Parts: sequence; structure tokens; C-alpha cells
Amino acid sequence: KRRNPNESEFHQAVKEILDSLVPVFEKHPQYMENGILERIVEPERMIIFRVPWVDDQGKVRVNRGFRVQFNSAIGPYKGGLRFHPSVNASIIKFLGFEQIFKNSLTGQPIGGAKGGSDFDPKGKSDQEIMRFAQSFMTELYKYIGPDTDVPAGDIGVGTREIGYLFGQYKRIRGGFEAGVLTGKGLEYGGSLTRKEATGYGTVYFVEEMLKSKGLSFEGSTVVVSGSGNVAIYAIEKAQQLGAKVVACSDSDGYIYDPNGIDLETVKKLKEVERKRISEYVKEHPHAEYHEGCSGIWNVPCDIALPCATQNEINEEAALILVKNGVKAIGEGANMPSTLEAIDVFLNNKILFAPAKAANAGGVAVSALEMAQNSMRYAWSFEEVDAKLKEIMTNIYKNSVKAAEEYGHPDNLVVGANIAGFLKVANAMMAEGII
Ligand code: NDP
Repeated sequence: KRRNPNESEFHQAVKEILDSLVPVFEKHPQYMENGILERIVEPERMIIFRVPWVDDQGKVRVNRGFRVQFNSAIGPYKGGLRFHPSVNASIIKFLGFEQIFKNSLTGQPIGGAKGGSDFDPKGKSDQEIMRFAQSFMTELYKYIGPDTDVPAGDIGVGTREIGYLFGQYKRIRGGFEAGVLTGKGLEYGGSLTRKEATGYGTVYFVEEMLKSKGLSFEGSTVVVSGSGNVAIYAIEKAQQLGAKVVACSDSDGYIYDPNGIDLETVKKLKEVERKRISEYVKEHPHAEYHEGCSGIWNVPCDIALPCATQNEINEEAALILVKNGVKAIGEGANMPSTLEAIDVFLNNKILFAPAKAANAGGVAVSALEMAQNSMRYAWSFEEVDAKLKEIMTNIYKNSVKAAEEYGHPDNLVVGANIAGFLKVANAMMAEGII
């Protein structure tokens, strides 16, 4: 805290990991002796830069750009870019730190990174988004590359933004380095199933967790927060598996549809028209719209999938979910539950799938996109989807195994953190004090 003042989100992410690692340090003191802990919490480097751009009125605007290259022990840096007004050093560092362990859990050779800007894409024209993305990349290009650091999307960065970023990178560098970014459009090197990967992967992971207790999505009532990339494809897969998804949200409020959410309407509003979720009730008058996104956790459900943003479930919301009979939580977003909320779930024996493990499907398919780019080849939707499912099942099994081995059976927070940590720590030991 002394070295990183005012970085509460980063402290929260570090505390969660370090608490889980106590049994590892007890069993293997060599990690202590090699300063693994001191080194792993310090980013290899962090780049902060000015992003000037001109809006449609001809006014000069200035935002701040970030890229944290946290850890490259097991592979090139990999992690998304977030464009949202709340972005600051603490948010980027918490996300980059989490990414180290998540990427390790996928079993693929990718290190941890994250980046973004406090730029707010909401209400901006296409031209403004493009000018901003071009200015952002004009600085970022110096630090990234297919074998160095491979950014992708996150909140506020979808296929449109990745397209503009890729175009500018290509223009500056010369040559077509497809593997420098993932989440690309299918016409220029993107992978099938990437768009669906995080949401689908979260549901695949939760399905495994439910199966272990004789439960399933079939016939269950589900609440999904958010209505962005992760939320939409979590809803799609949950519905395919026979669940009824009754609520979703955006940062203004949530909708409740007792008949089950009509996903085509949500996709049209959010992916095509870029409108607010409140518009849903115009087409479905029997549904309800409620102002304020946090109220969504009052909707009774069997399974809750927070897929919007960090700290969206606090202790109070967790207690309401438990009181209403929730059986399982699957974190599609990064760190959506506060530490106190996680305690409520674990103390009440609620099945809990932590973000690091449950939402790793996105980065896993990003790594498959890199592999396809290197091969100059493209797998079918079914091939990538099958690989995604296998990866999510393996992450589940490895997390369960680590939790048991280190004395916390059924605690996937501990299991995922330990399983992700061991591979990185062993690589760091092998590579010496760097
Ligand atoms: P999108 O930008 O596509 O969607 C984000 C959704 O969350 C929107 O509905 C947005 O509403 C809502 N939201 C954002 N900020 C807030 C806030 N402060 N309060 C309430 N609602 C908010 O992002 P993604 O779906 O890509 O990302 C969602 C989460 O999943 C993030 O935590 C991200 O880090 C995580 N994630 C994403 C991956 C990916 O592959 N995309 C991979 C792994 C994790 P509004 O439109 O009103 O802002």
C-alpha cells in the first residue's frame, strides 16, 4: 500500500491471491526464498501516455493511455484494452495482475498484461472513435508485436475498435502482422467463436461445477448482469442449455422479463443500434424496466452470472442472492464480487466460479486466434468451440485438484489461484532473478 497508494482495486486483487497462496508457501518455502511474491506483484513495466485527438466540433481532447506488461514468464504479454471513463492505474493493474493467473490457467503460453484509456466511447461518432483509436495506437505500437505483447478487447473495445487499432498498427509498421491483436474481424484474421468465447466459456465452466453436484442449467432461472459482449453470449449459451434467463442490465438499469429474455432484441439494441437496455420494454411491454443497475440482484434466481464490471456484487447484494435461494455464481466479468461478497457465498456453501477461471475462455480463444494466424489457417466454428469446451473443462478439473491438494476442497477461488500461480512461479524460478 505504501508503494501503490490509492490503488484499492489492485490491493483487492493482490489480497485475494495472496490469501489463497498461504498453503503453497507453507508447503514450498523455496518460492519465498526466490522472492517470487515480491517480484510477481511488481509489473515488469507500465507505460502511461498522452492520447490527443480532435472531436467532431474541431475541439482538441486529451485522454490518458495505459499498458501494463505485468509478467512474461510463460509467454508474450496478453490481455485486453478497456475504454471506459473509470479507467486509471489501479484498474489496469488489478486487471493485468489477474490476467497473469488466468492466462496460466488456460494451459496456453501467454503472459499477463492489460491496457486501456479513460476515453468514454458512449455517445461518440464512428469518426471520433476512429480518430481516438488511431491516436492511441500511434503511441502503443512501439511496445507491442505478435511475439511481444498482443492486446485484445474488453469493456468499450469490440470488433469495431480492434479494426481501427489494427488498421493504424499496420499502417505504421508496414506489413500484415495479423497476430498483433486478437478479437479481429473474420475478414482479416479473426477467429470464429472469439466473439462468443467468454460468455460461452463461463457457462461451460459453471455447467461443470453444477454437474459435480447433480445440478444443471436445464430448467433453472438465471440472472445475467450487463448486456455487452460477455453477457450476450452467456445468455445465449445458458438458453441453449435449457435455462430461463429473466434479467439483464446496462449501467443505467435492468430489465426483468418473466417469460425469459428475448436475446434477438438485446442483440439488435446493443450490437447493432448501440441503444440503452431500457428500450427493450418498448418491444416487449409485458417486461419491466428498473432504473439503477444494482437492483438486478433482487431478482430471485438459481444461478447468477455477473458479466458487467468489477465490484458489482457487494456484501449486501450477496446476502440478498443467498436469501432468495441462489445455488451458483459464475463470474463472467473480472472481479465482479467484492471480497466480502465472496465470503458470503463461500460461508453459505454456494457454488462459486471465480472470474480468473470462469471467464478465461475469451483469452483462451484469443490464443487460438494467434495460433491460427501463425499457421495462416482458420478452424471452423465447431472446431474452436470444441477446443474452448475442452479448455474450460480442464481449468475446472485443475482448479478442483489444486483446491483438494492444498486442503480447501470445493473452494475454487483457492484452487484456481494456486493452479494458475504454480506454473508461473516455476517458470520464474527457472528463468532466474529477473
Ligand atoms: P462490454 O463493453 O461489451 O459490455 C459491458 C457491459 O457492462 C455493458 O452492458 C455496460 O453497460 C456494463 N457496464 C460497464 N461498466 C459498468 C458499470 N460501471 N456499472 C454497471 N454496468 C457497467 O464489455 P465486455 O462484455 O467485454 O466486458 C464485461 C466484463 O467482462 C468486464 O469485467 C471485462 O473485463 C470482462 N471480460 C471480458 C472479456 C471479453 O472477452 N470481452 C474476457 C474476460 C473478461 P453500459 O453499456 O451502460 O456501459
